[in-house]
Amino acid sequence: MSGNARVWLVTGASSGFGRAVAEAAVAAGDTVIGTARRTGGLDDLVAAHPDRVEAIALDVTDGERIDAVAADVLARYGRVDVLVNNAGRTQVGAFEETTDRELRDLFELHVFGPARLTRALLPQMRERGSGSVVNISSFGGQLSFAGFSAYSATKAALEQLSEGLADEVAPFGIKVLIVEPGAFRTGLFGKGAAYFSAENPAYAEKVGATRRLVQGGDGSQPGDPAKAAAAILLALDADDTPLRL
Ligand code: NDP
Repeated sequence: MSGNARVWLVTGASSGFGRAVAEAAVAAGDTVIGTARRTGGLDDLVAAHPDRVEAIALDVTDGERIDAVAADVLARYGRVDVLVNNAGRTQVGAFEETTDRELRDLFELHVFGPARLTRALLPQMRERGSGSVVNISSFGGQLSFAGFSAYSATKAALEQLSEGLADEVAPFGIKVLIVEPGAFRTGLFGKGAAYFSAENPAYAEKVGATRRLVQGGDGSQPGDPAKAAAAILLALDADDTPLRL
């Protein structure tokens, strides 16, 4: 590892945004620990950069495994400079048909997992007086519409957690960045393509009205996750990193 190289821990790094962020960080000369339940999607990146990319199996809904992975990474790398809580999935459907189990599972994935991993890695950031936590939310963290209530509820919770945390850790030199993507070409988008479409007026009207930096366009065309990843790296490098991207 060279002098200024950072150590990243990215969840959900085998696909979509997580994979794009991992690639961008490696291209910047940094070291990446990429996690996912199935790490096969990282095999080529590990093979291309065996000295700077490691894949670790991690289900972020498994709290004990989170603690074990965090402890192992800190023991071997000495630090994590950038934590990217990205693992997630879409859930679209009538609220009336959403079960408690589905709602809890989604909160485990989008809120409790990121919360636990953040708590596991914050102390070493605080001791070093630097570090960044990037929480991948969604345009759905700020707005919602029919079929989107469960997903939006989890992302809104993640955002409020992040906003308070940002104020709490800023005095220790730690940045918190909330990313609110619109529609991007990832595995997730593929699964909900018919729903996340300009053909769906509920989606087009509300998403098209928002103008976030990493928005995937006007809602009619999914964006390129590599562009979102580049924006995340730029934002983290800036002196005046925004709270939301
Ligand atoms: P992808 O489906 O392409 O990638 C999802 C990643 O998360 C995969 O690596 C997957 O790997 C991992 N993952 C899923 N469940 C778990 C789990 N329980 N534990 C650990 N890893 C898990 O989707 P995206 O890249 O689009 O999604 C990334 C984030 O972006 C999500 O938080 C999503 O909500 C957000 N987002 C995406 C948008 C889009 O347009 N694509 C828009 C707004 C937000 P594996 O299944 O092997 O675990």
